[in-house]
Amino acid sequence: MNCVFCSIIGENSPHHEIIWQDDGHIVFVPNEPNRLGHILVVPKKHISYAFDMPPEEYAALQVMSRAVAVRLKKVTPGERIALIIDGMSVPHVHVHLMPVDMSGDFCVPRVKEGETTDALLASMGETLRAGFAGFVPEQEV
Ligand SMILES: [Zn+2]
Repeated sequence: MNCVFCSIIGENSPHHEIIWQDDGHIVFVPNEPNRLGHILVVPKKHISYAFDMPPEEYAALQVMSRAVAVRLKKVTPGERIALIIDGMSVPHVHVHLMPVDMSGDFCVPRVKEGETTDALLASMGETLRAGFAGFVPEQEV
């Protein structure tokens, strides 16, 4: 397997900006950070899609990300820390954490202005409610 993050984790390719690590997770600065304070929290076990992770491993990643975010906020500028779970740019699950200001530093892409109509929202709601029929969180695998 030729995974850039596994290579960093296995110390096969030196990465100079490792911030912290334990047996389960590693935290480092990406090679192309978006801004000061942008870091990655990466589970050491290789898996490419976050929602394929066993619930306990996914929960551990989120708990670790929360702790790292709390510390990150203390040591970087920004009013809050934003979180994105990725696994596509590098096919190994990683959490991006980055300091943001409330002024719109961090934007989730939206449909174009004017394209959101009441009919579109109603249609989305109807489709998704149908898809969630019989949904029991504990049974979702
Ligand atoms: Zn990997």
